[in-house]
Amino acid sequence: MSTAPMNRIHGTPRHLVQIASKEELIQQRLAEERLRLEREARIERGEVNHFHKPIERPFTRSQRDITTILFGGLTWKHEKLVQAALASLGYRCAPLPVPNKRAFQLGKEYGNNGQCNPTYFTVGNLVQFCQSLEEQGLSKQEIIDRYVFITAGACGPCRFGMYEAEYRLALRNSGFDGFRVLLFQQEGGLNQAEMEAGLEMNLDFFLGILNAMNIGDIINDVAYQIRPFEINPGETDRVLDECMDRLHEAMRRRRPWRLDGQLGAWLKKGGLQGTAEYLGKFLNQLYSDELMSALREVRARFDSIAVDRTRVKPLVKITGEFWAQTTEGDGNFNMFRFLEKEGAQVIVEPIGTWICYLMHQAKQEARDKRGLDLLANGVSKWNIPKVLGSHVNTQKKLALLTVAEKIFKREYNRIIDALGGLAHHLADQYELQRLGHPYYNTRASGGEGHLEVAKNIYYSNKDLCHMVLSLKPFGCMPSTQSDGAQSAVVAHYKDMIFLPIETSGEGDVNAHSRVQMALGEAKMRAKKEMKAVLEETGMTLEEVQGFAAEHPEMQRPMYKYGHRKGVIGVAANFVLHAAERMKAARRARVYVQ
Ligand code: SF4
Repeated sequence: MSTAPMNRIHGTPRHLVQIASKEELIQQRLAEERLRLEREARIERGEVNHFHKPIERPFTRSQRDITTILFGGLTWKHEKLVQAALASLGYRCAPLPVPNKRAFQLGKEYGNNGQCNPTYFTVGNLVQFCQSLEEQGLSKQEIIDRYVFITAGACGPCRFGMYEAEYRLALRNSGFDGFRVLLFQQEGGLNQAEMEAGLEMNLDFFLGILNAMNIGDIINDVAYQIRPFEINPGETDRVLDECMDRLHEAMRRRRPWRLDGQLGAWLKKGGLQGTAEYLGKFLNQLYSDELMSALREVRARFDSIAVDRTRVKPLVKITGEFWAQTTEGDGNFNMFRFLEKEGAQVIVEPIGTWICYLMHQAKQEARDKRGLDLLANGVSKWNIPKVLGSHVNTQKKLALLTVAEKIFKREYNRIIDALGGLAHHLADQYELQRLGHPYYNTRASGGEGHLEVAKNIYYSNKDLCHMVLSLKPFGCMPSTQSDGAQSAVVAHYKDMIFLPIETSGEGDVNAHSRVQMALGEAKMRAKKEMKAVLEETGMTLEEVQGFAAEHPEMQRPMYKYGHRKGVIGVAANFVLHAAERMKAARRARVYVQ
């Protein structure tokens, strides 16, 4: 006699029915207990109303000519180029002013409590700008109708994921309810199939932004490397202004690559026009000389600034949270100008590092999730086609990300070369991971993740700076975490000069005085290094200066002088190089005689 029917209830295995009824029993008991506790606490249960993102008025193509797209949060150099890139695609756009303390106060007034410093500054800055438009005579409705704001969106553990909601809240509280906030990562909301979007986030858009970011990064770096050594005060800033105008114009005049003519028509017939145009745009990006020729002009202009590299200056690497280490205003106590005024040379942090970090993290995630889809769907390991398919998909994703990484670095390096090879190359993400992971789990995302810790070790270990200054906003969760990890780093790397500064809307004097103290130590180190180099070469500073004066090419910013392992400062490395040249010149003289 078969026992099967006894093990099944209505065809369902008996043990599953028992589990289901146990689960029901637990749920029932929970509900009863909840009710009892609510009665005890006299809690009346009303209807639950969850928050829903408000449905926003779309920004459509027909509004493009009468709508200005606002953006901000970077340096003025990046923003000027982003503006040009968007203008070249036919958009009206304008960067917001650099956020100031008044913006911070407005952010606090109209936003949620308990936000991080960058949220207050950036959110308040948009409110302040809208208020300034009102003061100029525009009505609130005109501002709401004629302007939109674009920002990057994200999800994740830090407040960056809440920026969009914060902008909306502050705008509503300040009387600009209905002001449109667009997200880079926006999906849905505006159905592109039904109506044409006002802002098309297509390949042209992303390539334009990418070029603007990369050129902005590199020109920013170049200017910070020249300014401390300029012989004529103010010359670097004058040249920078001029060069930014030139680059703005070159980017604004650029037109997106299109597949036109007979070939285009022929491919269209075959249904291949989309793919061919996509490919053409990429190749145009990789091989076009349009922007490169403008960059070479800019390089020549920068190279005309006379510099004196024998000035001993401590090199200060800036790290920290993305916005705090980028902004050039009250948001970080105007720290870069302060450092330069105090006699330091600043190494600014490029946005490119962050972009590479995102790609690197995406690769890590793809590797970590390999095969999870099979587990989730209960696919047997013997289901060879499905198992293989899943692994091929992961490999494809990884290959695409690797290609993206390589293309990004290639483009970045191409700009560095066009601008004279003076700017720093991007730090290798795999090395940053290797250095940072023992102190900060590289899978812990949010904010700068492990980068803050890793960059501190990277720049100190590779003799690239005398001191690391980490700018960390108050209320920043990821920065607070990495602060804890930095104690272990500093304990291990005893020679490191590391100073974390919490940025806020107030407390400039305190922050500046702490920086002055750490900088004093870095200055001592730079002087000691210079003294050792002079002793080693047997030269005096005056001799080196005299030799450089006789060789005008040595006073050019793009002049190459090398970097010796163990020697950090520009002046010390320049003396080593000059000494070699001087000795070679002496030898040549003796030989001729
Ligand atoms: S990283 Fe920190 S400061 Fe930046 S948005 Fe996130 S929480 Fe705010």
